[in-house]
Amino acid sequence: MSEHVTDALARVRERVDAAARAAGREPAEVAVLLAVKTVDAPQIREAIAAGYPLLGQNRAQELTATEPDLVDLQHSTHFIGHLQSNKVNAVLRWVDCVQSVDSLGLAERLSRRRVAMAEDGGPQHPLQVMVQVNTSGEESKFGAGPEHAPDLAAAVAALPGLTLTGFMTIGANSTDRGQVRASYDALAEVREQVQASTAVGTAQARELSMGMSGDLEIAIAAGATMVRVGSAVFGARPVPG
Ligand SMILES: *Cc1c(COP(=O)(O)O)cnc(C)c1O
Repeated sequence: MSEHVTDALARVRERVDAAARAAGREPAEVAVLLAVKTVDAPQIREAIAAGYPLLGQNRAQELTATEPDLVDLQHSTHFIGHLQSNKVNAVLRWVDCVQSVDSLGLAERLSRRRVAMAEDGGPQHPLQVMVQVNTSGEESKFGAGPEHAPDLAAAVAALPGLTLTGFMTIGANSTDRGQVRASYDALAEVREQVQASTAVGTAQARELSMGMSGDLEIAIAAGATMVRVGSAVFGARPVPG
């Protein structure tokens, strides 16, 4: 099993590197975040030990159950799922970044909580956040519409206790590569609009978190700086329910 995870990680990294080169980009420009939902702590520990310390969790309960088993290992955890406001306090204890900010209300809550944590002697640096954009228009997906995302980004970037580092999307759920590519191009376009706006606090909002096991090459061609990979490393997840 351990060889399986290590080999799978190496294969993913090769795919990422090849896709970057094919797009005329440096492989080092693209980080691999491991989407670890349903993965148990021993397997996550192996992946960190193999040199992949960037994790993504999308369920608050799983995050708070798993992180205590990882405290001795240097790693960084990003929240990548829909975050309910009553879970903000529990989640902020463990994460360095919330990639799934999709409303000003959520951003304000994160801001207030982070400022309060700093006043209580917690981390003094800002929490990293990304604005999640629904680039496919699919109703099942969370995220601000591309037309609203620049305004949301500017408002988020102005809040105390937060640093806007970039943008996140889940690509179109389609076998049509053109449609998938269009959703990733749309996220890159949001970043360009925000950069062009020169709104306060947005200069460093350069990350494009997009691309998963099945379509990371398309995302990298469209400019992804971080791909989120789960099943290609840990195998197919059990069907929920
Ligand atoms: C599960 C998940 C991924 C990874 O998906 P795979 O197809 O398993 O690579 C990426 N992003 C988010 C938000 C996820 O929930």
